[in-house]
Amino acid sequence: MSALKSIKSQLRIIPEYMELLLPFAHSAHIRRHRAKIIASRVGLLSLLFAIMIPLWIVVDFFAFSWPTWAILAMLRTVSAIVFFGLYLMHQNCKTLNHAYLLLGGMMAIPPVFYLISQPFLINIETDALGTAVIGAYALLPFIVVAGLSVFPLTALEVLLTGLAVTVVVILGAAQQRDIDLQEFINSTWLMVVVLGVSIFSGMSQLHYMISLINQASKDLLTGAFTRRSGEEYLDLQFRIASRTDAPMSLLFMDVDKFKSVNDEFGHEQGDIVLKQVAKGLQKCLRRSDQLIRWGGEEFVILLPNTDVDNILPILKRLSDLTLGKRPDGKPVTISIGASELQTDGCEDWIEMVEKADHRMYEAKKSGRNKSVGPNPELNLNNIIAA
Ligand code: GH3
Ligand code: MG
Ligand code: MG
Repeated sequence: MSALKSIKSQLRIIPEYMELLLPFAHSAHIRRHRAKIIASRVGLLSLLFAIMIPLWIVVDFFAFSWPTWAILAMLRTVSAIVFFGLYLMHQNCKTLNHAYLLLGGMMAIPPVFYLISQPFLINIETDALGTAVIGAYALLPFIVVAGLSVFPLTALEVLLTGLAVTVVVILGAAQQRDIDLQEFINSTWLMVVVLGVSIFSGMSQLHYMISLINQASKDLLTGAFTRRSGEEYLDLQFRIASRTDAPMSLLFMDVDKFKSVNDEFGHEQGDIVLKQVAKGLQKCLRRSDQLIRWGGEEFVILLPNTDVDNILPILKRLSDLTLGKRPDGKPVTISIGASELQTDGCEDWIEMVEKADHRMYEAKKSGRNKSVGPNPELNLNNIIAA
């Protein structure tokens, strides 16, 4: 029995692993933070490369004869300019797609450099220094794949980038007149090992990033977003909705007679009730909706792309749920105030919250366990069935 239980509990954490394997299920919050981290690391590395790469011209000068070193110097100068361009662009990175472009751009430079420089470096007469430098050039693709390990990336993202670079290595090898099969197998093997390590490291970075974000933005007791991160999200969603003329709704809810739970049964029982309420509310949300613990026993639910007509189905869904029972066996009930960006003509998200809060108080005054919205169809009695 206990083995079955442990398998079940292992299965339950599979979705957590999925977010390390694939990028598709990440919340908007995580996407935004990941975009920021990726862009800032691309910026830092690009600046470093823009400075370091031209310095290597001196080494090429001593290692190779004319015109090889000059061709390499030209390639280096162009690479440095592109790296510096990426450094300048990273400050304006707003979305994850921008961050992908920056990262892809940065990662593409060394393999392209490798492909272009290969024909000039094959079969030339060199001394010991030259041979060593050519060996270092051949390592460029591996350095790129190893470099991926400093970014918080999913396994799929590292794998796809790694495969693209591997294609470049194969193309580079194909340029050589007599391909050394043993060397080719060694290179491929090395690439697989480096890729494996990078996948593991990228996933660890991502896991660490996600847990830090969750710790900082989620309330420990209820798992809902904290007020601070909720306000950030409200601000972002308000700006998106205003720009795209999209509807957006907000529910402000307060647990009825909650103080009496604390007074009669103790603070711990109160905490249990709050946890149940948050769990119940989470169940009726879509992925884009966000539950925020606004204060003690007050919650805000933000509903992007939801107009007034679509609030009613959500209230109905809420009434089908249970928010748990109080220690005395009675069902926990809530009072709800709703507001909608366009119907209420709100100037900012603060006004949306104020309108919904005000309506929640009307629901309280008129008897609790009710909802009050911007139009009368949303004024429901007995939200939670007794
Ligand atoms: P109403 O129906 O008018 O909302 O009545 P109420 O008793 O719910 O209203 P009130 O705002 O007076 O009570 C809120 C209580 O919530 C007071 C506070 O002690 C309690 N509270 C706030 N945060 C927490 C918490 O984290 N845990 C517990 N157990 N209680 C909390
Ligand atoms: Mg209250
Ligand atoms: Mg209350």
